Amino acid sequence: MVMNPVPWPNGARCAAALTFDMDADSILHLEHPDDSISRVSAISMLRYGPEVAVPRIVETYKRFGIKQTFFVPAWCIEQYPKAIETMLEGGHEVAHHGYIHENPTAGSREEQAYWLRRSIEIIECATGQRPRGWRAPLYNFSDHSAELLAEESFLYDASLMGDDVPYVLRTDKGDIIELPAHWGVDDWPQFVQSMDLDYMMPIKSAAGGIEVFKQEFDAMWEHGGLWIGVWHPFATGRLARWLEVVELIEYMLEKGGVWLTRMEEIARHVKKCMDGGSYTPRVDHLPYYTDRVSVMPLAGPRHKAAE
Ligand SMILES: [Zn+2]
Repeated sequence: MVMNPVPWPNGARCAAALTFDMDADSILHLEHPDDSISRVSAISMLRYGPEVAVPRIVETYKRFGIKQTFFVPAWCIEQYPKAIETMLEGGHEVAHHGYIHENPTAGSREEQAYWLRRSIEIIECATGQRPRGWRAPLYNFSDHSAELLAEESFLYDASLMGDDVPYVLRTDKGDIIELPAHWGVDDWPQFVQSMDLDYMMPIKSAAGGIEVFKQEFDAMWEHGGLWIGVWHPFATGRLARWLEVVELIEYMLEKGGVWLTRMEEIARHVKKCMDGGSYTPRVDHLPYYTDRVSVMPLAGPRHKAAE
């Protein structure tokens, strides 16, 4: 079913990563710049992420002896340094997720480059390391994003949805490894309802929501793919849901043959396999289009007749 499975380490059947995007209230200020500070209930819902959920998540990871990846807007690193310390103490990866969750597709190339670089500096200052990976805020990967990532020597991107296994984004500035996910493994459709965020989904039961991710995982396990959970501490870090996640992790580990690790490790392994010739990924040349896609009217007699 998967035409090109990756040779995962130690004969693992699949690779898996529980990734959290710790957006906190950055998304609210962006959505409502004029009156976000008066939307206190929404702020409290989103602050639940760094204040309550992150310590809970990191504690669970410690219990299982696993290290995972958090994508964090740099503004949140400045606002919630304690949550970042908790992640780092647990040995987890802190990856790039914009400055204040801005939308790269709405800015010029220069603006995108500015926010990318400003946030790299903040991550480097907080963690002692340049970020290796990036996930575009709200998957808003622009036609300049791949080139900008290559210019800044990123190892991987985690925003696109073009395959079941890692693949390569090729640009004039260099290559980036894509670790793809999709909306089916994102927790917003399962668990998020907020009028302030203009996002209203019928909330699933904790077990029902996590079942969706389990089904996606089983398919990847069966066919040698890569399973990535794209989760948010304020949503999946809530108590009943997190208890279901604990059961999901137990299920994965008991099933066996799963390489559950940080995104940077997965990207490094893929690169090593590519360099050694044991994996030949699909290659997407980006940007897909360099000009507006338009359809010309039909010329000739038929067109004239229609007028
Ligand atoms: Zn986000």
